[in-house]
Amino acid sequence: MATDRRFGAGIWHFATYVDRYATDGYGEPRSILDAIELAGRVRDLSVVDLNYPFFGGSFTDAQIEDALRRNALDVIGITPEIYTRTFAKGAFTNPDPGVRRRAHELVTEAAGVARRFGAEYVKLWPGQDGWDYPFQVDHRALWKASLDGVGALAAENPDLRFVIEYKPREPRVHMSFDSVARTLLGIERIGLPNVGILLDFGHSLFGGESPADAAQLAIDHGRLFGIDVNDNLRGWDDDMIAGSIHPIEIFEFFHTLERNAWDGVWQLDQFPFREDSVAAADAAIDFLKLVDTALGRLDVEALATAQAEHDSIRALRLAQSALYGSRWAPGQG
Ligand code: FE
Ligand code: FE
Repeated sequence: MATDRRFGAGIWHFATYVDRYATDGYGEPRSILDAIELAGRVRDLSVVDLNYPFFGGSFTDAQIEDALRRNALDVIGITPEIYTRTFAKGAFTNPDPGVRRRAHELVTEAAGVARRFGAEYVKLWPGQDGWDYPFQVDHRALWKASLDGVGALAAENPDLRFVIEYKPREPRVHMSFDSVARTLLGIERIGLPNVGILLDFGHSLFGGESPADAAQLAIDHGRLFGIDVNDNLRGWDDDMIAGSIHPIEIFEFFHTLERNAWDGVWQLDQFPFREDSVAAADAAIDFLKLVDTALGRLDVEALATAQAEHDSIRALRLAQSALYGSRWAPGQG
């Protein structure tokens, strides 16, 4: 395993959740300070992505900084909440110019917080930017508003990176930034160096992509600025424990990152509704370490030969013996 490997998590991993059924929540509400304390109990976590505004109370930056220091955590990203009730009809694409301005202001504030905490990026997850029904929107105007919103922020804050986390749907029935290809197309249109992609493995799976292929495409365009991992049943963004459902796909994903010498944080975006959140993070990171060890065992030369011939059986046997151990595929390594 690479010794400098850093693991991270969205701080919401340690919050408790409400959905449209358990409207009383899946546990006692927690503040961001409670969540930071829990994150500190995860064995190998070194960075967190923080929602902004800070949830569960009104806290100063100094209080947050204190809690982070106590728990030996750094900040990788700040996620402005541009997807809450105020933005139900969109943040950058809201029909009300006042609400669009509010989104711009909120992200600008988050940019200040990102500077203060030395974060690598401001994460844009425009979950409400999109549409629900046929004929609801003018598609040209909506896409232009999406790009103008991100472009203005990136232009005004050239010292910071902005990442767009794409996802096919939810909460909007169709999100504007829905896929790797469309998001890259938008980023190329914006044409600024400080806008990239945060590739969420689960969003890519759920969107019918191959996450390894999506990562390669983003890397080839110089736009893979961050990643999230989790797992799902491919029909929804279930945000389950990484590696629990699609171990071979996640192995191919990390192999692709490794091949390209992509050395960012391996970050969790999980929602353990019914699980102990510290145990869920530990379980995922233990699996990711296993993947990391398997990367070291993978016979990359033999794999390259197999891939040059599109030899699926040989390529899979090589991957499986690295991931599951040599007994999985005797004599085939
Ligand atoms: Fe995510
Ligand atoms: Fe998600």
